[in-house]
Amino acid sequence: MAYLFESEEHAAIRATCRKFAATHIAAKGAEWEEAEEFPVELYKTAAAAGIQGIGYPEAVGGQGGDLSHVLVACEELILAGRSVGTVVGIGTHGIALPPIVRFGTPEQQARFVTPCLRDGKISALGITEPGGGSDVASLATRATRDGDHYVITGAKTFITSGTRADFVTTAVRTGGEGHAGISLIVIERGTPGFEVSKKLKKTGWWASDTAELRFEACRVPVANRIGPENGAFPMIMMNFVGERLALAGQCVAIAELAYRESIQYARDRNAFGKPLTGFQVTRHKLADMASRIAAARALTGEVCARALKANDPSVAGLAAMAKNVATDMCSFVCDQAVQIHGGYGYMRETLVERLYRDARLYPIGGGTREIMNEVIAKTEGY
Ligand SMILES: Cc1cc2nc3c(=O)[nH]c(=O)nc-3n(C[C@H](O)[C@H](O)[C@H](O)COP(=O)(O)OP(=O)(O)OC[C@H]3O[C@@H](n4cnc5c(N)ncnc54)[C@H](O)[C@@H]3O)c2cc1C
Repeated sequence: MAYLFESEEHAAIRATCRKFAATHIAAKGAEWEEAEEFPVELYKTAAAAGIQGIGYPEAVGGQGGDLSHVLVACEELILAGRSVGTVVGIGTHGIALPPIVRFGTPEQQARFVTPCLRDGKISALGITEPGGGSDVASLATRATRDGDHYVITGAKTFITSGTRADFVTTAVRTGGEGHAGISLIVIERGTPGFEVSKKLKKTGWWASDTAELRFEACRVPVANRIGPENGAFPMIMMNFVGERLALAGQCVAIAELAYRESIQYARDRNAFGKPLTGFQVTRHKLADMASRIAAARALTGEVCARALKANDPSVAGLAAMAKNVATDMCSFVCDQAVQIHGGYGYMRETLVERLYRDARLYPIGGGTREIMNEVIAKTEGY
C-alpha cells in the first residue's frame, strides 16, 4: 500500500531507490549488520545516485522534493535493501542538515549541505549528552566566545554516524541556563580537541555506527554558528518534527518488511500437515499486522501532509502522535513476525530477528515515547 499523498513523482523515487538498494545494499546488508559497519564509500555512491539529495532544494545541491519524498525513498531503501542499520546510517544528513538548509547562510549551505548531498560527505546531529537527552534545555556542552571563535568543551553521546562524520551539527550552551541559552554550531572533524571517545555497541541498527564524542577546548569559528546566538532551541524543536515523522515512516517500512517476510514464511512452512496460513490463528495474526500497518501509515501520511502546509501549530503534537502510533505498531508487528517464524524467528540468520531488535530503538530515539506524550499533552493544552 502506498501513502495517499503519492504522485507519479513518488513512484519514480520509489523505483530509483528500489534499484539503488537492490544493487548496492541487499547483497551485503546482512554481512554489514553483523560487522557493525557498512563501507564508508556508500555515502558517496548514494550521493552520486541522487539518493542523498531527495527532499532537498536544488539550490543547495538536492534533487528537490520534500518530506513526503523522503518517506517513500526511505521505505524503498528499507524494503529492497533489507538492512535498517545501513539505511539509517547513510541517512543521518536527514537530521543534521535541515537546520542549515532552513537557517544557515548561503555560504554555510555551500560549505556543509551541498558536499553531503552531492559528494557524500558525512554529517551527524549532536544533541544528546551523557547526562541526558530528553531534557534538551539542560544540555551542558559549553561554548565560550573568544574573538571570532567559540571554545567548546563537553560531550555528546548516542550520535549516529558519529565515528565517521565529517562534521557534527552540535547543540551547545552559549548563554545562561535553560532553552534560551542554546546555539547550534557545526564542529568539523579534525578540529583540535574533537575526538570520538567511543564507538558504542547496540541492541539493533548494527550496521550504523553510534558514537560518544568529546570536545576539549575545541576552537570553532563563529562563522560555523547556524542562526542567531542563543536562538537554537526553536530550530531544534522544528527539526524534531521532521525527524519524528521520518522515524514513523521507518517504522511503517520495517513493519511492512516483517509482514511480507511473515506471509512468505507462513505460506512455505507446514505444521500438522498444512501451511501455517491454513490456521485461522496465523491468518488473524497477519490480518492484525496488516491493519495496524495501514493505520500507522494513514496517520503518518496525514501528519506529513499537514506538516508540509505552512504554519500549522498542531503539527508538533501530531508528529509525536504519529511517532508513538507507528512505534507501537512496529514493535507489535515485529514481535508477531518472530512468533510466526517460531524457532527460526529467534535465529540470527532470520531477517525478522534483526528487525525485532531494530524496532526497539524507535520508542527511544528522536524523543522517547514518554516525551512524545508530554509534547502531545502540551499541544492538546492540558
Ligand atoms: C541508536 C540510537 C541513535 C541515536 N542517535 C542520536 C543522534 O544521532 N543524535 C542525538 O543527538 N541523539 C541520538 N540518540 C539519542 C536519543 O535521542 C536519546 O537516547 C533520547 O532522546 C532519550 O534520551 P536519554 O537516552 O538520555 O534518556 P533520558 O532522557 O535519560 O530518559 C530516560 C527515561 O526517562 C524517561 N523520562 C525522561 N524525562 C521524562 C519526563 N519528563 N516524563 C516522563 N518520562 C521521562 C524517558 O522517557 C526514558 O524512558 C540516539 C539514541 C540511540 C539509542
